[in-house]
Amino acid sequence: MWTATTVEELRRLRASTPGSVALVPTMGALHAGHVSLFEAARADGHAVMVSIFVNPTQFGPNEDFDRYPRPLEQDLAACRHAGVTGVFRPTVDEIYPPGQLECLVTVPVLADILEGAHRPGHFAGVCRVVAKLFNLVQPDVAYFGQKDYQQLRIIEAMTQDLAMPVQIVGRPTVREPQGLAMSSRNAYLTAEQRHQALALYRSLGKAKNLVEADRERDPSVVESAMQRVLRENGLQVDYAVVRDARALAPLQRIEPRGLDVVALVAARVGNVRLIDNMVLKPPMNT
Ligand code: AMP
Repeated sequence: MWTATTVEELRRLRASTPGSVALVPTMGALHAGHVSLFEAARADGHAVMVSIFVNPTQFGPNEDFDRYPRPLEQDLAACRHAGVTGVFRPTVDEIYPPGQLECLVTVPVLADILEGAHRPGHFAGVCRVVAKLFNLVQPDVAYFGQKDYQQLRIIEAMTQDLAMPVQIVGRPTVREPQGLAMSSRNAYLTAEQRHQALALYRSLGKAKNLVEADRERDPSVVESAMQRVLRENGLQVDYAVVRDARALAPLQRIEPRGLDVVALVAARVGNVRLIDNMVLKPPMNT
């Protein structure tokens, strides 16, 4: 497995890689969720390139950029173990050379709601770095987790609208046995908070049950029930909503038209902010 820290090295190593190339962009602190993306890409027959870059432009001024975990040796071992071909782990100055004029890439209709409303500028930072990584690596395909559902939708919209020649593959969320979605930020949780954090998954299960088994059609009923589960467990709710799965627009009613809907939650356990989501399939009336 090669590693590259500069753009020049990366371009050289990329040029000497035959066959189709998959890129998996990450911020490191790798866990089984990331590894599932590497393995899927390999199983699909691609040479797998992983970027490890804690991207400052997607963090707000009071967020956890400085304390974000950076266990590099462990991450490289995980990549090696998963059969990754190469790792690109640039410095901040390599990606954002001082003095360079900034470019803004965004998908406003998706970027300013939900996560974007709570983290202004976050998705512009994500789009900028992903567009840049696509240009640097020139992958045939890129793998992303459904764990970051809104991010996945934005990347799909960006590549489609700008005709970027990269196929986007979304992969299911990998969870711990009790349902907590794997996340690098779970490392911030105490044992007690980890237990409390299970409420995110439970609130999504509640939504699924209401929509799929009880055939609840009123989004506000489902949303109130999700919020209740989160609050009862002592979480501070940023949002708990049911949206159309494509544009993430609010729904008048949950209609079983074959269109999927998605339940999305963001909540804080102490000062750790976690997100999760679940796609729901409203049953047809019989
Ligand atoms: P991050 O390092 O948090 O930027 O995540 C890198 C990629 O891994 C993104 O596409 C995430 O959606 C994906 N990812 C993170 N957690 C999970 C998970 N639990 N299951 C599947 N994919 C994940």
